[in-house]
Amino acid sequence: MSQTLLAMAKDLVLAQIQAQKLSPDEMHTALHQTYTTLMTLKAQEDADGIVPVTTPAIPPKPVDWRKSLTKHTVMCLECGQSYKQLSVRHLKDHGLDGRSYRVKYGIPRTQPLSAKATTSRRKEIVQRSRPWEKAPTFRKAQEKAPEAVAQKTGRAQRKGTGRAKA
Ligand SMILES: [Zn+2]
Repeated sequence: MSQTLLAMAKDLVLAQIQAQKLSPDEMHTALHQTYTTLMTLKAQEDADGIVPVTTPAIPPKPVDWRKSLTKHTVMCLECGQSYKQLSVRHLKDHGLDGRSYRVKYGIPRTQPLSAKATTSRRKEIVQRSRPWEKAPTFRKAQEKAPEAVAQKTGRAQRKGTGRAKA
């Protein structure tokens, strides 16, 4: 059994030598360390039949947020729950808001956090009701326009009458 481990250690160190060109001293150290590591692993294996696997802290795989959006649902990428839309209150439960949630998952700022159907329905409603026409700035612009035209025509008429008099 230890011979197998030694063989494994030798192979591993040989691979290291080929890769890194180790000096004889380094070779000895590497062989010793590798063998010790293998021995430790073997001892653990024999002890409880389970080798404790220490998973290194791998950053979470980038989630494709597009997959979280379907026609009728939007899945919260934090907890995996599906909703019609991700409310501010829900995101708050995860210590996030719309902005930080988008940043975390690389979602464009303009992407609504709601089901596709909900989003397109909302767009439709918006386009039909034209809320911007109710905005004070838009109204002002609309009110100004005919006034300006009236003033111009008024002036033109006055000018015209003036010329006619002279
Ligand atoms: Zn959630």
